[in-house]
Amino acid sequence: MNGTEWPGGANCAASFTFDVDGEAAALAADPRTARSLSVMTHQAYGPQVGVRRLLRILERARIRSTFFIPGFTADLHPTTVRDIAAAGHEIAHHGYHHVKPTGLSLAEQAEQLDRGTDALERLTGQRPVGYRAPMWDLSWEMPGLLAERGFHYDSSLMDDDAPYLLSPGPEADETPIVEIPIQWALDDWEQYCYLPDVTELGPIQTPQHAIELWRAELEGMRRFGGCWVLTNHPFLSGRPGRAAALEALISEVSAMPDIWIASLNEIAEHTKLGGTTPRQIMPLNHHLK
Ligand SMILES: [Zn+2]
Repeated sequence: MNGTEWPGGANCAASFTFDVDGEAAALAADPRTARSLSVMTHQAYGPQVGVRRLLRILERARIRSTFFIPGFTADLHPTTVRDIAAAGHEIAHHGYHHVKPTGLSLAEQAEQLDRGTDALERLTGQRPVGYRAPMWDLSWEMPGLLAERGFHYDSSLMDDDAPYLLSPGPEADETPIVEIPIQWALDDWEQYCYLPDVTELGPIQTPQHAIELWRAELEGMRRFGGCWVLTNHPFLSGRPGRAAALEALISEVSAMPDIWIASLNEIAEHTKLGGTTPRQIMPLNHHLK
């Protein structure tokens, strides 16, 4: 076991999270997609249709989830954002234009962060406390920008099975944030996303294939301990066959007595209570000079 203690003596924690990328993800990948009504509707399916179906599933299962939303998508679909918040789920930050922080200057990263926060706060009345980098591509500078702005946690890194405290700089007195790690096998993008000329992963997998992969990781977490964070995109997993399979998985996980299901802000709060020594970032980009 990795030593993390979970509420109720659970073997592991589990969180069903959703990245409501919408149009922003395609536009960031290739601005020319703005010319394609088809591509825009492929992406709009998430906030327009997928989210509503997923909200009903979460309500039936009585679990709280975390929805990461780019500010641009929030501005385009304000009712969707308000509906998610009204259902009691956490609304978290996912950039403004869904551009990778690693391709931006420090000032541009700060601008994306502040613009995204403003968009979400305008719609929900609350500042987000959680952040997930678009395409999970966190920069070395971003933990510091998040800490300065009072964010509680990030969920974009891949170096552990369980959450930990992350100090954004070399000084011992810097306020740490919580890092809640993710990994590529627990994402629906690689299984389901096919968008010609934008992201041609293909072939599209069956829900059974995706669920089998996610369940195997969950069984490993139950065996060794950790925090299983599943990332689904409403424009992908909100489609009927996939949503039905996801609902069956949620029912299955909900019935497991050794798993604590929570939203990411609840997991971050629990991690802070643990009071472990923060890890420090050791930038490696100087090796490129
Ligand atoms: Zn995204």
